[in-house]
Amino acid sequence: MPPKKCVFCDISSGKQESEILYRDDELMVVKDIKPVAPVHLLLIPRRHVAGLTYASGSVSNTLGKMFAMAEEMARRQAMTVSGYRLVVNQGPDSGQQVEHLHMHLLAGRQLKAMA
Ligand code: AMP
Ligand code: ZN
Repeated sequence: MPPKKCVFCDISSGKQESEILYRDDELMVVKDIKPVAPVHLLLIPRRHVAGLTYASGSVSNTLGKMFAMAEEMARRQAMTVSGYRLVVNQGPDSGQQVEHLHMHLLAGRQLKAMA
């Protein structure tokens, strides 16, 4: 069951506005509201999954599709040659803010080393 308030469920259902670049029954791609790079997209399963810790086998297809879609979005933004970074934050130590599984796609500048 999704929590009472989930911003990504609200975007998925149309309750909350967002800049949606792609959407199908399984996945959506939105522009991050507070971008940290010139290209900062979020790849989000339409159905609520709190995070990787709670992802069962049933979402493994969706996870595969998220990676394929990330490459497709990078291609559309002409970022396949210069490169991009994919990030999934999971749990408190990662700084995860939204407890609905999502993958960040960051690109458009030289990204700093990860810490
Ligand atoms: P995380 O720290 O991995 O949970 O990242 C959550 C991301 O969601 C952050 O980069 C936020 O800027 C982004 N975010 C939060 N609310 C919205 C929204 N309404 N539309 C687009 N991105 C959002
Ligand atoms: Zn949700």
